[in-house]
Parts: sequence; C-alpha cells; structure tokens
Amino acid sequence: MREIILKNDPELKDLLDELKNYCRKDDLIMARLVYDFADKAHEGQMRKSGVPYIKHCLATAYILAKMKIDIGIIIAALLHDVPEDTHVTLEEVEKNFGHDVASLVKGVTKLGKLKYRGVERYIENLRKMFVAMAEDIRVMIIKFADRINNLATLDALPPKKRHRIALESLEIYAPIANRLGMGEFKSLLEDLSFPHIYPKEYEKVFQVRQDYLAGQQAYLDRVMQIAREEMTAAGINWSDVHGREKTLYSLYKKILSKGWDNVDKVYDIVAIRIIVGDVGDCYAALGIIHKLWRPLKGRIKDYISQPKPNGYKSLHTTVFCAEGRIVEFQIRDAEMHGEAEHGIAAHWHYDEQGAKIPARDINWAVELASIQKNILEKISDLNELKVDFFRNRIFVFTPQGDVMDLPEDATPIDFAYNIHTDVGNHCNGAKVNDQMVSLDAPLKSGDVVEIIMDKNRKGPSPDWLKTVKTHSAKSRIKSNLKHSRSSLWLQMILPKPKKK
Ligand code: MN
Repeated sequence: MREIILKNDPELKDLLDELKNYCRKDDLIMARLVYDFADKAHEGQMRKSGVPYIKHCLATAYILAKMKIDIGIIIAALLHDVPEDTHVTLEEVEKNFGHDVASLVKGVTKLGKLKYRGVERYIENLRKMFVAMAEDIRVMIIKFADRINNLATLDALPPKKRHRIALESLEIYAPIANRLGMGEFKSLLEDLSFPHIYPKEYEKVFQVRQDYLAGQQAYLDRVMQIAREEMTAAGINWSDVHGREKTLYSLYKKILSKGWDNVDKVYDIVAIRIIVGDVGDCYAALGIIHKLWRPLKGRIKDYISQPKPNGYKSLHTTVFCAEGRIVEFQIRDAEMHGEAEHGIAAHWHYDEQGAKIPARDINWAVELASIQKNILEKISDLNELKVDFFRNRIFVFTPQGDVMDLPEDATPIDFAYNIHTDVGNHCNGAKVNDQMVSLDAPLKSGDVVEIIMDKNRKGPSPDWLKTVKTHSAKSRIKSNLKHSRSSLWLQMILPKPKKK
C-alpha cells in the first residue's frame, strides 16, 4: 500500500491524524484523494475571512472526525460545497466517488438553496430540514458541522447576514439537533450564535458563570474527591468524576425562567458528573450520594427508566451537600454518555478500537420528520408552527405500558387522538393513574392514561380546540367538526331542498 503524501496543509494533517484513530488505512488514502479533488475544485476561492475556501471544507470534516463518524460522511463533508460553489458538477462527484457520497452532497446542496425572506424563509428552511431528515439523516449531520464552522467564522460577515445566520442556527438548527439527541452539536450551535443575537445578555451570563466558578471551584474539587473515595470504598465501578459547566445559552434560558434575582437558585451552573460501568452502578452510585447527602425533595430524576424523548438517559439528583451548599449530580454509564453527546449520530459511530457501534433504530426520527413536514404544509402561522416540535416533551404511558411522546401540558384528548382518530372522536372521559380527571387536565411525564370511550358519542366538542396542545389533535377535531356540520346541513337540506 502506498504511503500517504502530505501536502503542506496543517489542517489536512489534523484531519488525517484524527481519522487515524478509528479508520483503516485505505480510508485515509481515500480521504487524501478527496481532499485533492476538493482543493482543486475550490482553487483560487477565498472565504470572506480571506482564508482559502478548502479550509472550511477541512474544518467541517474535522468536526465530524472528532466525533469518530463514518468515513463516507467525512468524504461527503469534504465535498459538500463543490457542486454549489465550483465549476465541478454533481455528476463528476458521482463518477469519482460513487452514488452514496454524491447523494449526500446533493442533500447538503439542496439545503443551502433558500429563496424567500422573512417568515416564508423560516418555514421554507424548516421544511427543507425535515425533508432532508426524512430522506437521509446523515445530510443533517453534515449540515450541522458545516453550520458550526460557519458560526465560528461569522465575524467576517456584514452585521445583517451575521444576525440572520446566528438566529437561524438558534431557532432552527439547535432545536433540531436537540430533538435528535445530539447534545454536543446543540450546545455548540447555541453558544456560537448566542453572542451575535444577545450580546449584552451573553456578557452577563458569562460573568455569572465565571463568578460561580471562582467561588465554588475549590469546594467542588473537595466534594468530587469525597465522592470518588466513597464510591471506591463501596466497590462501585466508576471511571470518571468531573465538573460539567452548564453551557451559556442553556444557563441563560434557565436564568430567564427563574428571574435574574434568583440566579442563586440555579443549582446546576456546575453539576458533578459521575461516569460508571453499567446501569447497576448508576443506581449504586446514586445510593452512595444519597447516603452522604440528603436529596432535595422532588429533584431526583430517573431518566434511565424514563428516558427523555430524544433518548437522553442519566440519573439526576440535587443534594444538600457538604457545608450545606446545594449541588447537582448527574450519573450515567459510558454508553449513555456517548449517546447524550452524539444522539442519533451514534448510529454512524466507531469506537476507540475502530469497531462499528451496533446500529440503533433511527426510524423514529424519519417518522418524526415526515410528520413535521406534513404539518408544515398546512400552516403558515409562525406561532402555530412552533407548537409541536419545539415544545418540551413529556412521556406518558398507555395502561399496556406503551410509551407516548407528547408536548408539555398535552391533555387526555391529545393522548386519545394520538392513539387513533376514532379514539379521539369517541373520547368521553379519562383516568390518569387510576383517578378520573377532566379532559383538559394537563398530563405529566410518567402518567398512565386510560381513555374511556363512548361508542354513541357524536364526535368531538368544539371546546376541545381551546385546550389541546398537539397540532394533529387540533386538525382532526376541526376536520371532524367540519364534516359533521356539513352532514348535518345535508340532513336538513336533502329531504326538502330549499333555496337559500
Ligand atoms: Mn459549507
């Protein structure tokens, strides 16, 4: 096998060094060839910042290589701007690197083309993202990396364009990354956009976190040491205990929800994260923490037995810690940790030894994207648009134990329509955790919901429209009401047709 000849490009060397950690040698040779091809295509092109265009392609690929992602995606990342910005066509990409790579590049190129302005642009953008997601989630993964590098080099752009790109990242890209469980990308997209949109608030939040760290670092080091010693003494298989600083934009949102006067009530500016061997060790470690320090009421969250809708798993607890200070702990095993950082992208991941991580089910994301795509086709009001996808989600259960993923504050009627239109239309009552509740009572995560149906019920009540939270329930109620009104009208009209 021939040696890889390096051009004098430090970013290329960085990329290949990263790929060496998990790729085979012929993959590296391939990446090198693709670089030559892309470099030649972009020859003479400069970024607004004045650096050669190829640096952006290398940076995009590098972000993905850091995540140890499949070489096919890396290759497409290197080529992602070739058909859009150079004389080299998609056909030439396909001829050289095959159909799969070309189809990824095509997907990214399609995402880049936006025609409209204002609200229309927002909707068009969202729709394109969901189309791409439904067709091939890998396209989104490349697009996120592309956007992260664009955000990192935003200063070179004029203020108006800078603002638009940052806002789009904050309102569209980051929530979608979050929904796909890609925690690391979500945080990067948010924290790189944040200072461009809310510069003053960014400064303020940054200062809050700095002050907290200055005051607590030594204390947290002591607490972490106690946790390590106690877990070792108890024979728990732990691998790492570290402080996790809250990212700035999520800290900002937390402060907004509590009010600036209550910054001292934000207990997870730095949380202590414990990584252990397996699920059993997670609960054992939680036991140790609770034996050492008393937990705050209502602050123990078991996302292992009830993961968040995006797949996030961990145990969280907030305790009255040493010297009476309040500290949050997050406990998870290495697999959960990887999933929390990479989410759906874990599907295309390699581990440290270069072995493929077992494939995970990604159908849910494809399904989610098609649902969202359909919803988007029917609405034009921005507020309605944000209802489903960007809301916080809750988990509720059928009496048979099936999980249902609904937006926060969804009602039993949303639940009923989620099962089936007929169940919704004939819904006459609901039991939550074996108690009768009213049909507009907001559901909470973990609730077991049983719908009581009445076969003779004529259909939904118009009042339900005021309380349902999902778009799908709303549109089904509306279409049923329209239908029953028109059939009622027909019944009145048909026997004795009258002129209006
Ligand atoms: Mn690009």
